Amino acid sequence: MKRLGGEASIGRRDFIGGAMVAGAFGAGGWPLASAQDSEERGSAMPSSNEYLIRNGYVMTMDPALGDLAEADVHVRGGQIAAVAASIDAPDAAVIDAGGMLVLPGMVETHWHMWTTMLRSMAGDQPDHGYFPTSRGIGAHYVAGDMYASTRLSAAEAIFSGITFVHDWCHNVRGPEFAEADLRALTDIGIRARFAYGTPTGASNDSPIDLDDVARLESRWSDYSNDGLLTLGLAWRGAGTEASRQDYVAARELGLPVSVHVNNFPTSQGGIAAIEAAGMLGPHVQLIHAIWTSPEEIEALARRGASVSLSPYTELRIGFGFPITGDFLDAGIPVGLSVDTPALSGNADMFAIMKAIQNIENSRAQDEFKLPARRVLELATIEGARSMGLGDSIGSLTPGKRADLIMVDTRALNLGVFTEPAHMLVEAAQPSNVDTVMIDGRILKRDGRLTGIDVDEVIDDAQRAQAAVRERAGWW
Ligand SMILES: [Zn+2]
Repeated sequence: MKRLGGEASIGRRDFIGGAMVAGAFGAGGWPLASAQDSEERGSAMPSSNEYLIRNGYVMTMDPALGDLAEADVHVRGGQIAAVAASIDAPDAAVIDAGGMLVLPGMVETHWHMWTTMLRSMAGDQPDHGYFPTSRGIGAHYVAGDMYASTRLSAAEAIFSGITFVHDWCHNVRGPEFAEADLRALTDIGIRARFAYGTPTGASNDSPIDLDDVARLESRWSDYSNDGLLTLGLAWRGAGTEASRQDYVAARELGLPVSVHVNNFPTSQGGIAAIEAAGMLGPHVQLIHAIWTSPEEIEALARRGASVSLSPYTELRIGFGFPITGDFLDAGIPVGLSVDTPALSGNADMFAIMKAIQNIENSRAQDEFKLPARRVLELATIEGARSMGLGDSIGSLTPGKRADLIMVDTRALNLGVFTEPAHMLVEAAQPSNVDTVMIDGRILKRDGRLTGIDVDEVIDDAQRAQAAVRERAGWW
């Protein structure tokens, strides 16, 4: 486990001072714990061992391998070593997967993790809607709040069977905010992309802190948590000189770009503008894209761009219905996303899959429009492809990194065993996730998170949330 920051990192003392002034952390809270050295921090994280997962119903999500009933998965060196009917691995620790569905960890493709601390806070009146709430409170965040909220998010993700998240961070109010977010992702041990953005509510005329983006990128091996974390740009879209500079700087560093676009009927044409600026390509992810024209869909397909859909926030805030089938019919990679628990409430990817299927079938008035197996692909291999990570995660293919989950079918909401893809999309819930492995490390086992003090994570976020509401005067 690599230590974040290093010699040239932000003034730790300044940051600790800020957090203590905020009153959000007591003894044992993060700022003090963060001063631990790498050996101490590393020892809290389960080690990556050799495992033989035996006798599960293995859904590889690799078209060449398919499903294997009563099969084994061999994990060694943090990667999938083999998947077969019966594997001999005498040195491996054996995990009994009888009655379990074994499948790749679910891939989440856009989540403002700093807003999870504002769970279910988008209110019922316009002055307490999602945007005023997240901006009104977000402007008063200190770096420790980013840590508390992102750590809560990452822990919830793992509990729910999500092994990769796209941490779309549009409240970077200084370098220490980005560092705090990255440290939370590292401490939980999740695989993630950190997308660097503006402070929430920033003027469209002010660019992202591009010097800090370049600093992080140049020293990324110090931040990547042994390759689990990658860096990207949380972009505001074509339109202003500042956002053009953000894009150009990110691309010079080779970073992928992600942007919210065409959310409302009144904000159409966003993809056409990006295309007209010559900025569309396989490095670009478009979020929501509900009010997208056929010409824009054609441009997305031609340029190899991907799309991220978050049905629960799109429905809850009233953007409209995701046009999943339109993108899939055009061959555009689609990933599924949480977006913000301020609106969605939770990070239940099983429910997200179910909503995506049900909305699409209802839109098409066709029971068979979007099959469960196809939806499961969006949550695994296609989600990984949409993030440019299809070669390393998203399927249980030998040689890929060992990110997998085991879903216990011996539960009242999953018995009796019938058609596994349908069971996962229609019936499964996060509580059915028995085991979660990321990069060969077991982070959930027997339904409980390992190496994470759940009460401490929740208490820390609760304290931080109460303190920032007090500072913001938000009630
Ligand atoms: Zn979003």
